[in-house]
Amino acid sequence: MNDRIHEVITDLKSYLEYLKGMGIGVLPASEKKEEKMIQRKSPTLEEIRKELGDCKRCKLHRTRRTIVFGEGNEKARLLFIGEGPGYDEDVQGRPFVGKAGQLLTKIIQAIHLEREEVYIANIIKCRPPQNRNPEPDEIESCFPFLMKQIQAIQPRIICALGTFAAQTLLQTDAKITSLRGKTFDLTGIKVLPTYHPAFLLRNPDKKREVWEDMKQISEWLTKEEAKGSTRK
Ligand code: SF4
Repeated sequence: MNDRIHEVITDLKSYLEYLKGMGIGVLPASEKKEEKMIQRKSPTLEEIRKELGDCKRCKLHRTRRTIVFGEGNEKARLLFIGEGPGYDEDVQGRPFVGKAGQLLTKIIQAIHLEREEVYIANIIKCRPPQNRNPEPDEIESCFPFLMKQIQAIQPRIICALGTFAAQTLLQTDAKITSLRGKTFDLTGIKVLPTYHPAFLLRNPDKKREVWEDMKQISEWLTKEEAKGSTRK
């Protein structure tokens, strides 16, 4: 993985660890006093969107139509993170709305959830020309906003969709084939990578593996719920 991307993400992770050390982060529901502190100190999604504004922090602003901020339940237990907007997303300003998005919706429904119950975002918020991979300077500018969104949502689990999202979140060069189905830690939040729905459209025989990964996520969320640790 590119050294600069690695460096940026390491800095962000250190910052988040620092915030956690200061008591700003995931805390047990009983710690009401500290919870109030989080609400005061962590920006809301609306505030993060406002801060992003008509973003021109990287060169992708020149070719995009819209900024695809992300959408869904702001208190989602499950957060999906893809790579970046494609053509349909760029036109509509919403994540995962093309054919791959329709498949993602079916995947979500297969574990008895609705799109509105989860949150969906991408590593970068503007479509790269010809859907090329995001470049290091673009990630450097955009990724901090995603990390803020993760802090605001505090999901129980993140499902990283595809190679790029998994490698960026986990700072690794490992292939998606060796990452998928395994769980990792991102500042106290579980991360489970799986194949990107666009890849599934081209390789439908891989759907079974994604189903196994989704079952794992669903079972883990159910266990968490049973432990009474879900947030309303
Ligand atoms: S990709 Fe992110 S940083 Fe770059 S212009 Fe879009 S919103 Fe701003």
